[in-house]
Amino acid sequence: MRLERSILFLLGAGVLMASRPAMSADLTCSSSATLEALVTCIRDQMPGRGSGIFVAPTSTQLTAWRTVVRAMMGGSCNIVLPSSLSSSASVRLLRDVGNGRSYCVLMEVADRNSDGIVDLGLGTFIVDAAAERELSHSAPHATADLETESQAVSIFKATRSRSFLMAGAHRDASFNDSICQSSTMISDVAHNVTNAFHATYLELAAFYGSRPWWGIEWHGMARDTCKEDVFMSHGMDVAPVRGDKISELTRNLLAYKPTWRVGVPGRSDCSLNATTNVQGRLLNGVSASQVCGRSAASYSGRFVHIEQDPAFRVPDYWINAVKATWP
Ligand SMILES: [Zn+2]
Repeated sequence: MRLERSILFLLGAGVLMASRPAMSADLTCSSSATLEALVTCIRDQMPGRGSGIFVAPTSTQLTAWRTVVRAMMGGSCNIVLPSSLSSSASVRLLRDVGNGRSYCVLMEVADRNSDGIVDLGLGTFIVDAAAERELSHSAPHATADLETESQAVSIFKATRSRSFLMAGAHRDASFNDSICQSSTMISDVAHNVTNAFHATYLELAAFYGSRPWWGIEWHGMARDTCKEDVFMSHGMDVAPVRGDKISELTRNLLAYKPTWRVGVPGRSDCSLNATTNVQGRLLNGVSASQVCGRSAASYSGRFVHIEQDPAFRVPDYWINAVKATWP
């Protein structure tokens, strides 16, 4: 009798599960009422360093992700996710109670083993359909470069920029060495191409074509890595020329923070020029199939790579400088 009941219960549960796949385990961060709260929630449920959790997306999933990115960039958020993503991710409109604006959010939600951590390490992409600036603010090293994800989303929001992008896992979440760049793990999205983060960059580049836009990556360095507090580059070890965005951003930043030591290539010992960064190489004209192994021959200025000491990753310090640089 007891056994029969158990079987009936299991059958019933099975039917329920089949009609509502993975609902009970989804990590949707649905109680997050602002973008900042959402990003903090997502960060806290993403695979951490050495967790061993990072599943490289299939080519079908990457194509599907790009399709959704394209639709979001076109202003849509009423999107039915392709089947390769629908069991892992969700797309929804979030109305931020802080400013009353609505944002379209694509994020991984599935947690089938109910460990409180998402299963794949896909990532997050957010679009403001009513944006004023064609900037994409991103945190490729979320959690590893402490606070950069919170900083990037706050700057995205305050500057009315078009998109926000965040890695889905700690850069060292995986134990598997990269075949793209051997000194990295496959979960490091700034140095690998088989991930949703890089796929987003590919789609952004395709979406904008020759129209002006900028991909800004917010990174963090250790305090003693470079003598500067902040070091910026366009992804090449070349001194900027007048009019380059890193020159303008430096000038605008120093107008607000005159005591900061801000460095750029050409007049610094700092080596964090992002010359191996695959998004940088892509925006600097290296073909998508060669970004793992080929350096850029020149820079477009579209890619802006910002390294910061720990005390300098405060959004308020940067917002006015970003607005002034991209008026
Ligand atoms: Zn970094």
